[in-house]
Amino acid sequence: MTFSSTEFALLEHYVKKILAAPVYQLAVRTPLQVAPALSAALGNQVLLKREDLQPTFSFKIRGAYNKLVQLTPEQRARGVIAASAGNHAQGVALAARELGIAASIVMPRTAPQLKVQGVRNLGAEAVLHGESFPFALAHALELAQQTGREFVSPFDDPDVIAGQGTVAMEILRQHPGRLDAIFVPVGGGGLIAGVAAYVKYLRPDVRIIGVESQHSACLQAALAAGERVRLAQVGTFADGVAVAQIGAHGFDVCRFCVDEVMTVTNDQLCAAIKDIYDDTRAITEPSGALAVAAIKQYVARTGARGQTLVAIDSGANINFDSLGHVAERAAMGAI
Ligand SMILES: *Cc1c(COP(=O)(O)O)cnc(C)c1O
Repeated sequence: MTFSSTEFALLEHYVKKILAAPVYQLAVRTPLQVAPALSAALGNQVLLKREDLQPTFSFKIRGAYNKLVQLTPEQRARGVIAASAGNHAQGVALAARELGIAASIVMPRTAPQLKVQGVRNLGAEAVLHGESFPFALAHALELAQQTGREFVSPFDDPDVIAGQGTVAMEILRQHPGRLDAIFVPVGGGGLIAGVAAYVKYLRPDVRIIGVESQHSACLQAALAAGERVRLAQVGTFADGVAVAQIGAHGFDVCRFCVDEVMTVTNDQLCAAIKDIYDDTRAITEPSGALAVAAIKQYVARTGARGQTLVAIDSGANINFDSLGHVAERAAMGAI
């Protein structure tokens, strides 16, 4: 992959922001671990970046904290409004509590109860509105206008993207050796934009593969169309990535930094949740299992052997009572 000077300047801009992001006041450096059974089954070394082990159980705390910590004293005093399917909500709520900022968060009515309760437990206001993320987003933008509170996007903001990019900084430091590809779950594109910018600046040979749910493949649609398109509807099983339109800032990076975008089915996600459980004894939410599901599909398609493939395990916020459904479907999705 080669870049024009404008593209390279954009990557450098993000790398600087990522290196300067003070996320470790709240986020932790998560392990990058071998998944032994998956690796053996696939004939490749599969490494899991354990973002499910963050406080609030997803990487979203990185971007949320990096955004909130950079607000001016006036903005902090007015408070913040966010829209989120749930994980960004918890990230913003925790960061806001830490920094003494008032936060209200609009979440779709379909958000798992666990995520809604998580937000309330952290002292933020949770407003339930709309069937899926796009409706919650519209309502949050309206409220921000009415109240003068700062809107904190879950993905479409350079400070949020830079915070998420610290995941890639850790991966490259934790694994300086051979690295063939990093599989990144994609919702609105904040995580993949930060990861791709950092990795392509330093190690352009490492493939960046975006992974979307078949029911919310807005990055794939945008890359095919050459512009950001809005999906008419999105499925919410993988609620963490149920986004109808890729973010503008994220797309600016993804359009030249992402090698490939794959999609996976809900049944493949359920099977991947089981694979991750078998290797780690940890439960992943559907969005958190996107990357592992894609690695299995990738190896089956390409016949790759002996490669080192990283999956970002992005979150663990799943209602306990939906595990029965996941276990049932896992059998259907097994390849
Ligand atoms: C937000 C989220 C994603 C997708 O991140 P984007 O920056 O919106 O692309 C993936 N997995 C989980 C668990 C998430 O919460």
